[in-house]
Amino acid sequence: MRILVTGGAGFIGSHLVDRLMTEGHEVICLDNFYTGRKHNLLKWIGNPYFEMVRHDITEPIRLEVDQVYHLACPASPIHYQFNAIKTVKTNVMGTLNMLGLAKRVKARILLASTSEVYGDPEVHPQPETYHGNVNPIGIRSCYDEGKRMAETLAFDYHRSNDVDIRVARIFNTYGPNMLPNDGRVVSNFIVQALQGKPLTVYGDGSQTRSFCYVSDLVEGLIRLMNQDFIGPVNLGNPDEYTILELAQTIQDMVNPNAELAFEPLPQDDPRQRQPDITRAKTYLDWQPTVPLKVGLEKTIAYFRDRLAE
Ligand code: NAD
Ligand code: UDP
Ligand code: UDP
Repeated sequence: MRILVTGGAGFIGSHLVDRLMTEGHEVICLDNFYTGRKHNLLKWIGNPYFEMVRHDITEPIRLEVDQVYHLACPASPIHYQFNAIKTVKTNVMGTLNMLGLAKRVKARILLASTSEVYGDPEVHPQPETYHGNVNPIGIRSCYDEGKRMAETLAFDYHRSNDVDIRVARIFNTYGPNMLPNDGRVVSNFIVQALQGKPLTVYGDGSQTRSFCYVSDLVEGLIRLMNQDFIGPVNLGNPDEYTILELAQTIQDMVNPNAELAFEPLPQDDPRQRQPDITRAKTYLDWQPTVPLKVGLEKTIAYFRDRLAE
């Protein structure tokens, strides 16, 4: 198949492109390189079945493909808040353009949505039927509400124009190819520990997240794309940790002498988060297989090499 991956030069996108290329597909990567880098896909450059297109998805583009994995959007709070209006445009106008493209060429399109559609959840763990608790006017809203609108657009294109959609709600995912300055918690703690700097714990560290290793996530995306259930489907690892537990785990693994520095909790930071993955188990026969420590080992090794460059 010929497959378009928007945001293919980013963290998750680059692992997805690796899988699709290895499986023998023809892949087009669309990226504006805001938080992605060509380096993540260096091994495919020059391969006749791979194309890298520098393009901003807020502008229309015409391409002929069989499937679209639509991942383009900065995912780290510091990057999506840097230009909040642009984040809304990417989620709304960008998703509209990709749905328009999928409609024109009758391609199946998978939207990478997020657990952030649940906001600061009052239901725990979060099933897909939960409608969420999102602040519409806060500093996270450009991303949370942007993704909610992207889901709305996907379902309206499905109902009105028969577009063949799939919607994944991705929970916190980590692994190699994250930027050292990505700003999300796993990469921050690892880079800080490797550099002998204090690990910056926001708040008292009692807030929780559930961390999924990227190879598990990519397997879930591919399964969702290639079966009949349109979703939304939660994809994430149900093993839940406090941020303080994560800091201590990384401290133990990298540098037991590293200090912890407690910093203010950002506005609207969700208190707890854990996916209910019953749907993914039922429809996709999918569940994560990589334990946190194993995934962290691989991620630490990656950053050790990156920082030595
Ligand atoms: P990332 O920031 O590493 O990758 C995003 C990619 O999209 C980058 O390569 C960036 O350059 C590109 N991009 C951004 N805006 C663009 C635009 N207007 N036009 C073209 N390209 C653009 O993020 P990631 O962690 O790989 O996340 C990928 C997708 O998965 C995102 O849609 C994100 O919202 C979603 N997601 C990720 C997580 C996670 O924990 N990693 C969790 C939930 C949802
Ligand atoms: N679009 C695109 N590539 C295509 C087809 C459409 O970028 O191959 C854009 C198009 O420019 C429009 C959006 O997708 O801005 C929605 O397209 P649709 O056909 O649904 O709406 P219309 O063009 O009728 O407003
Ligand atoms: N966090 C932290 N230190 C950091 C970066 C993040 O304590 O250096 C916290 C953050 O406040 C949040 C959790 O870790 O409670 C996850 O943050 P991240 O930005 O990785 O993802 P999200 O909040 O979008 O789930």
